[in-house]
Amino acid sequence: MLYGALDAGGTKFICAVGNENGQVLDQVVIPTSTPDETMPKVIEYFKAKIDPSLPDDEKIQALGISCFGPVDVREGSKTYGNILNTPKIAWRDFPMLKTLKEALGDIPMGFDLNVNCALLGEATWGSAKGLLDAVYLKIGMGVGMGAISGGKPVHGMLHPEAGHLIMSRVPGDDYKGHCPSHGACFEGMAGGLAIEERWGKPAKELGDRPEVWELEAKYIAQAITDILLTLSPQKIILGGGIMNQSQLLPLVRKYVLECVNDYIDTKELRNINSFIAPAALNGNQGVMGAIQLASIAAAE
Ligand code: ZN
Repeated sequence: MLYGALDAGGTKFICAVGNENGQVLDQVVIPTSTPDETMPKVIEYFKAKIDPSLPDDEKIQALGISCFGPVDVREGSKTYGNILNTPKIAWRDFPMLKTLKEALGDIPMGFDLNVNCALLGEATWGSAKGLLDAVYLKIGMGVGMGAISGGKPVHGMLHPEAGHLIMSRVPGDDYKGHCPSHGACFEGMAGGLAIEERWGKPAKELGDRPEVWELEAKYIAQAITDILLTLSPQKIILGGGIMNQSQLLPLVRKYVLECVNDYIDTKELRNINSFIAPAALNGNQGVMGAIQLASIAAAE
């Protein structure tokens, strides 16, 4: 069975067709500009995949939409499927789900936050396969967290925003932090924009500066400790461009164990290398999660 998948990100939209095994069979990449410019191209792509002249087995049966946030994921809410107060002004309050429903008719659609979708992909085919309670942290220019509990994405009043956990400063660190709302929150201290402002260079040019990654690991570990103590996940998956620094993950594991300080003793923490693990789907977790979201929508 074929499913449509839209991975709507801050810099690019990936439109794809995949099957029930998570295989991506076709995809196009459209730059994120404004809704007026980007959405007609997205709609054109998916319209061709539901064209009545296609044989049934070549049509997509549902569409999964993975969207940058914040978004309204509360089914039944008046603004369900809308992008909310994003700093991308052109997209603020944009009715993503409604726009696609109006353009594509009544094929089943699933909608969720991009980091929740990425985790759904990892929990179906990747690093968290088979687990019901897991967390995905995307540490890129910004920081976002997806969570599943009992196999379902965590929503509640909005959706988790753990990229803005308030941090304690590492002693001696007087960097003000990059977040306009909180200064020294997780993203404000450890996101790619914070790294660039603090050290005067983008993260990818700082690979030979061990002190950068020591400090980065201490902030990530602090956030992970708060998250594991709060959500009790069976696994924490780390993705995003900053995690491409190979020296970072071992340091994060070391400092998480230091932060937990033997307070809890579980098989997961005793196997820290598998408990805190890299994403496994080679950057395709967003699209694959959207495929899984479509498959769930088709079954409902
Ligand atoms: Zn913040």
